Amino acid sequence: MTIQQRYQFIIDYFQEHAPNAETELIYDNPYQLLVAVILSAQCTDKRVNMTTPAIFARYPDPEALAKAEVDDVFQLIRSISYPNNKAKHLVGMAKMLVGQFHGQVPLTVDELVTLPGVGRKTANVITSVVDNQPNMAVDTHVFRVAARIGLTRNARTPLAAEKQLVSHFPEALIHKAHHWLILHGRYVCLARSPKCEECGVQPACLYFQKQLRAAKT
Ligand code: SF4
Repeated sequence: MTIQQRYQFIIDYFQEHAPNAETELIYDNPYQLLVAVILSAQCTDKRVNMTTPAIFARYPDPEALAKAEVDDVFQLIRSISYPNNKAKHLVGMAKMLVGQFHGQVPLTVDELVTLPGVGRKTANVITSVVDNQPNMAVDTHVFRVAARIGLTRNARTPLAAEKQLVSHFPEALIHKAHHWLILHGRYVCLARSPKCEECGVQPACLYFQKQLRAAKT
């Protein structure tokens, strides 16, 4: 199978089985999504979704969060990983939104990464989810699943993986492909024990084919 055929198989499979794949974070607007994505680093979406309603109720917009005490934000997010840093980042991010972006979430990667707590991965998530921009956020699930299937080859960093994925997926599907790979990694292609027996992309998966060959020898 050529790399193009592998990509085509993956596209056809997920178009059929996950045509409406989307983020599992719960949000109503770009500001809320940005808060949720910052909180989601090293943390599950489920836990973030349990935490954000209280934050959104108390700080409904960037202006309110910009005026918050870091300690008060910390109290609301203390069950989440790295609450100290994240509380500082959230308040700093809101101050910058108000001070430099008229209280609006900017929708370019270059502008987003200037905000506290926002790296390339977060900026890619925001721009692809809010605006369907062809940006691929590579988190641990995407990195692992893409490498196993063989969508990336010898990619040693998330940025290297991102470049390979973006160069092969059709531009119009990149924002969706991110969710395909994340959700597949979260529920099927698990880190420690991938559920290959029940996985629909077996025929296109290099990892599975290697396991099969090893079992026959
Ligand atoms: S066949 Fe196995 S390794 Fe390949 S994508 Fe599916 S679960 Fe992951």
